[in-house]
Amino acid sequence: MNVLIVFCHPEPRSFNSALKDKAIETFEKSGAVVEVSDLYAEQFDPVEKAEHYTSRVNIEVFEPLSEQRHSYKTDSLPIDVQREIDRLERCDLVIFQFPLWWHQQPAILKGWLDRVFIAGGLYTSKKRYDKGYFLGKRAVCSVTSGAPNNTFTENGRAGGEIQALLHSMNYSLNYMGFTVLPPRLVAEVQGAGFTYKEPEAFVAGLHEKLEHWGQYLQNIDSVAPMRFPGWNDWDEYGVEKKI
Ligand SMILES: Cc1cc2nc3c(=O)[nH]c(=O)nc-3n(C[C@H](O)[C@H](O)[C@H](O)COP(=O)(O)OP(=O)(O)OC[C@H]3O[C@@H](n4cnc5c(N)ncnc54)[C@H](O)[C@@H]3O)c2cc1C
Repeated sequence: MNVLIVFCHPEPRSFNSALKDKAIETFEKSGAVVEVSDLYAEQFDPVEKAEHYTSRVNIEVFEPLSEQRHSYKTDSLPIDVQREIDRLERCDLVIFQFPLWWHQQPAILKGWLDRVFIAGGLYTSKKRYDKGYFLGKRAVCSVTSGAPNNTFTENGRAGGEIQALLHSMNYSLNYMGFTVLPPRLVAEVQGAGFTYKEPEAFVAGLHEKLEHWGQYLQNIDSVAPMRFPGWNDWDEYGVEKKI
């Protein structure tokens, strides 16, 4: 199996980084090939803008969709976008590793979606959802939070269930054809921080969370995917059919 970890944390000694390292160790032990896309370390630019396109179809007005289509068609995609697509092409499973920031993924990852999922190339009006480009590949969001597990409920302090908070991220992955596994939340990661001494029980708890992550990954083939509607579920207006 080929695994891609899209890693979104600015600090190499962070707990998110420890989760990423645990995933590498676990998969490599089982003989899988692991690749990491380290968005901060590689300084991925999450801002879609005209300067990314060297050979423009329209130099008067910047239309992101037109430039994406054109650069795909003319084989002149921005180098960093092409690199990410190549990585996605090689993998069977992609893990998005990130901390919950303002109840969703960090902005760098939203920008990664904006730029990497190229219109007219990786999706078209006919190549979406259960006919999407990445059909047959799995994707999962591995998320950490400061808030504790029990607050991720409909009216809980964390703002909702984790699946609800990450709905748009997971829906975008489904749009691109991925089989999406339910997000995996490691909650209550926020302690005193590196600047202060952590209580021993907190650190021990984090070690345990790392072990659980390793066990989850060993059994990932038995994780049931999320259910999303597909083309047969919608009427001609894109509305879910009443059965
Ligand atoms: C802008 C912003 C918005 C936020 N919004 C939300 C929100 O909406 N909801 C929410 O719940 N939280 C929120 N948070 C909190 C955030 O989700 C947590 O701070 C984050 O998930 C913690 O993960 P980390 O990798 O950054 O941990 P770190 O702060 O890097 O690490 C936490 C602790 O883990 C320990 N550690 C690191 N590596 C290891 C290891 N290998 N083994 C054992 N211990 C280790 C260290 O002692 C460290 O102090 C927000 C934070 C920010 C900065």
